Amino acid sequence: MHEMSLMSEIIQLVSEDARSRSFKRVERIDVVVGELSNVLPDALELAFSYFQGQGLVFIDEATTLKIIREAAVARCEICQWEFEPDYQIALCPKCDQVSCVLVSGETFKVESYEGSDALES
Ligand SMILES: [Zn+2]
Repeated sequence: MHEMSLMSEIIQLVSEDARSRSFKRVERIDVVVGELSNVLPDALELAFSYFQGQGLVFIDEATTLKIIREAAVARCEICQWEFEPDYQIALCPKCDQVSCVLVSGETFKVESYEGSDALES
């Protein structure tokens, strides 16, 4: 599952930033996962709980992972209709044209994280 390597990258990214800001630990990580991003939130959480037990410097059992789901939204460039597509390439349900652009739903990123100066949460 590629969520394992994605989570590893997220933790590395956050840890490097936390180190540069002289934080002692990370309290929370907020991640945005789009419905069409090919990332499974369940698998991401599973990967996160694995890393929580690895004795990392900034991430431990008390660190929380918040997954913010981003809905898939497509807009038809012909009639401007906005709808929820099942796939990246979608047919407009209103005018049947394949001129739709994806407005959101492909995002996968760290929205923010919360660091702490204290060792105990
Ligand atoms: Zn349309």
